[in-house]
Amino acid sequence: MTDLAVATPDDLTAPFDIAIIGAGMAGASLAAECGGHARVLVVEAEDAPGYHTTGRSAAYWEESYGGPGVVPLTAASGRFLDAHGFLSPRGGLTIGRAADRDRIGGFVDRFARLGVDIRMIDRTEMERHVPGLRAEWCHGAYEGEGADIDVAGLHQLYLAQARRSAGVLKLRARIAQLSREVGGWRLDWAGGSARAGVVVNAAGAWADGLAALAGAAPLGITPLRRTIAQIRTDPAPPADMPLTFGIDEDFYMKPQSGRLLVSPHDEIPDTAHDVAPEELDVAIALDRFEHTVDWRIAALERRWAGLRSFAPDRLPVYGFDPVVPGLFWFAGQGGFGIQTAPAAARLAAQLLLGQPRDAMTEALDAALYAPGRFTQP
Ligand SMILES: Cc1cc2nc3c(=O)[nH]c(=O)nc-3n(C[C@H](O)[C@H](O)[C@H](O)COP(=O)(O)OP(=O)(O)OC[C@H]3O[C@@H](n4cnc5c(N)ncnc54)[C@H](O)[C@@H]3O)c2cc1C
Repeated sequence: MTDLAVATPDDLTAPFDIAIIGAGMAGASLAAECGGHARVLVVEAEDAPGYHTTGRSAAYWEESYGGPGVVPLTAASGRFLDAHGFLSPRGGLTIGRAADRDRIGGFVDRFARLGVDIRMIDRTEMERHVPGLRAEWCHGAYEGEGADIDVAGLHQLYLAQARRSAGVLKLRARIAQLSREVGGWRLDWAGGSARAGVVVNAAGAWADGLAALAGAAPLGITPLRRTIAQIRTDPAPPADMPLTFGIDEDFYMKPQSGRLLVSPHDEIPDTAHDVAPEELDVAIALDRFEHTVDWRIAALERRWAGLRSFAPDRLPVYGFDPVVPGLFWFAGQGGFGIQTAPAAARLAAQLLLGQPRDAMTEALDAALYAPGRFTQP
């Protein structure tokens, strides 16, 4: 996943207009949107872009996910993802027990009011979607327009677009120091440095720490660990089974290539690092799976964890730091950073470059996502 011109020492001599720190989905998409308008450097600590959260997602697009403030970003991105062939239809099903009837109804009302294609379904229809669903699950909300996302394809598209507009990618360069200079910034990593007018903080779980290097106040962006186990089941899941959530937000499961991904929907505060799953969280995922369907677990094949990073209000952060000049935030992508990537990157590029809105972004309220919202009275 390195389809962006990899830097040679010569490439780094002349100053860049923009240096984006982090080559996950956030950094790559913003580099693509800024390329052609600015000379862009992307600096990534790891050997490969996408190694951290971007490479560990459940790869799903669902309009209601992330709450009302995220819906407009998801909807605007969905049109782009669909037009470029990155979505494969897969419904979303939220399930509840007898006592959850009103909660399921409330969930449907809340998102139907925002224009989401969502409706209540009965037990018979639920069983058609999820054969072997245990009897206690009797109320469901079905969202017809969910879809799997080709995450690697999207990431690759953005890296390739950035390369075509002469963007440069520096791998294995963990930014250790950011210093203000006349006209912008000096960026230092072990064995190298570069200069840029603007620094973009697209460092995912590391965003607050990176901001501190730039002399900015942290915004309280917290990495929360999320675990996924891949199991082989008997029977195998139907290929068209919806992604199935518990209304209590304590599990979800999704078929993938004949296997089933199950998550305990954990959100455990963690530090920014190369996170690995805890055995207990994997065990909880398997237990919740067994309480959902009557299928047998034939094998636990893989397990992984990733860090979803949230600002205190769980909305993303796009915009210039209110205090430190030349520092732009593109962070807090939470659990929706893939499904919102196209509109998020377009909006952020417009804010960064001072460009007007276009059809993709005209309905977005940038003030909702501004970093200054945490410092204003
Ligand atoms: C289990 C799981 C399931 C998910 N499911 C979905 C889903 O179905 N749909 C969805 O839309 N989203 C989902 N997400 C969320 C989505 O994956 C993230 O929102 C998105 O990947 C965040 O991208 P990013 O570029 O901000 O972060 P990252 O991909 O983590 O990229 C940040 C990069 O910054 C680099 N970096 C950090 N500090 C430095 C430094 N000092 N110098 C140089 N480089 C640095 C890191 O090495 C890293 O590569 C899920 C996440 C997880 C963990």
